[in-house]
Amino acid sequence: MNLDDTIVAVSSPPGAAWRGIVRLSGADSIPIADGPFRVDGCHGGGLAAIEGNCHVQGMLAVGGGVLPSSAYLFRAPHSYTRQDIVEIHVLGSPGVLGLIVEACLARGARRAEPGEFTARAYLAGAFDLSQVHAIAGMIAARSDHQLQAAERLLHGALGRIAREAREELGELLSLVEGALDFADEPIEFITLGELRERLTALRKTLASSAAAGLRAERWGRLPHVLLSGKPNVGKSSLLNRLTGLDRAICASVAGTTRDVLSAPMTVGETECLLLDVAGVDEGASGLARAAQAAARRAADETDAVVYVIDATVGRGEDRPWEDRFGDRPVIVAVNKCDLVSSSRRHEMIATFSASGDVAVCPTSAVTGTGCDAIKEEIHKALHGRSVDVHESAIAMMAEHREALEEAAEAVRNAEAVAADGDEHLDNGELVAAELRAAARAVGTLVGEEATEDILGRIFSRFCVGK
Ligand code: GDP
Repeated sequence: MNLDDTIVAVSSPPGAAWRGIVRLSGADSIPIADGPFRVDGCHGGGLAAIEGNCHVQGMLAVGGGVLPSSAYLFRAPHSYTRQDIVEIHVLGSPGVLGLIVEACLARGARRAEPGEFTARAYLAGAFDLSQVHAIAGMIAARSDHQLQAAERLLHGALGRIAREAREELGELLSLVEGALDFADEPIEFITLGELRERLTALRKTLASSAAAGLRAERWGRLPHVLLSGKPNVGKSSLLNRLTGLDRAICASVAGTTRDVLSAPMTVGETECLLLDVAGVDEGASGLARAAQAAARRAADETDAVVYVIDATVGRGEDRPWEDRFGDRPVIVAVNKCDLVSSSRRHEMIATFSASGDVAVCPTSAVTGTGCDAIKEEIHKALHGRSVDVHESAIAMMAEHREALEEAAEAVRNAEAVAADGDEHLDNGELVAAELRAAARAVGTLVGEEATEDILGRIFSRFCVGK
């Protein structure tokens, strides 16, 4: 990414609108915009002659015509990217906006990469990395609470957690290392009891922060609903029925679904993606094992689960979804109900409903019975999730949670080492190594350990123009 280029992009949302925005950033933004844009009542100097940050009315010469428009000028370093920025605001016609971009390209600008404006702001030191994520979160937010969670991130909530954790880690590390360096001296740097207490408190803070993080990396995409269950229970058939698409290959041989299949589905006013993956078969090998891995990934990322049970098989005693989906909502579909007696159907439903923590629907993928009920439950599950959020929740990307969890794990290891020994710390080196690992993980939260690769991944999530 070359920061010396002047970049240009349409930065308003795609499609026609009352207003559209073309944005330029870089040293030549003003002379480049001075081509198509003519300032009203200005004879000569154009935008370049205007001092400071301002908003001016003018005309835009594009495609052989002239349109009224306005320009916002933000001079370095008082701009988002800390470079000269010009925003041209004009009628939001995709054709017109495209012509303005072309005119700027012809005058020496380069098309911006996704997220490049925000990347420039970050590289100029305007934000730390967690704030960059917050901006991505605010762009992707679909509800007030998501927006508020992203704002908390923008205002440094995660950075604060990270800095406090780093401080405590640094202090504990210096105490443990001090004890190691002066092992022969009669000085006590920290008692074993205090060390244990502080490690436990730190681990709890890190773990609860990870748990309070909203999964903001999902906001930009449709919610996922996973069809799960043993092979041959009717998952592919239900995918067909529920989505009305003939995507999945159904067969009476167990294990036909070899990859992740997905199809969009509308439940109420909510759109989601229904996924069908290979049935769970722990003893799988070769190709089937790859399908199992894809299934596990889909299970990790899903927002809700439809767990399909074959009504003709077994007695419905076990609850195989329990350990697998954590706190995600599960709907149990007792499928192939067309093949069993009504007493058998009621018996199965009663068994699964007993605990009251899952919704249970009798279904038949063949006759379509129960499909509307399943959709209603999916709607409730997705909707319920989005409103049931803690007030202090912070928007987090997957890597934020992973970093916090990794740090909590390292502190847990340090705790385990410190738990040995009666009065004195026997393995101070091991504790110090774990504390350093935790500090490294926490450091990634504020970008102190960010690599080119990490930065590339983060900014590629943005749209062009942001
Ligand atoms: P999957 O392995 O779980 O995806 O199961 P499939 O959808 O491939 O279905 C396995 C077999 O069960 C196929 O022969 C389907 O036609 C049949 N099947 C699926 N659902 C039902 C149902 O509700 N009623 C009946 N009678 N057969 C079904």
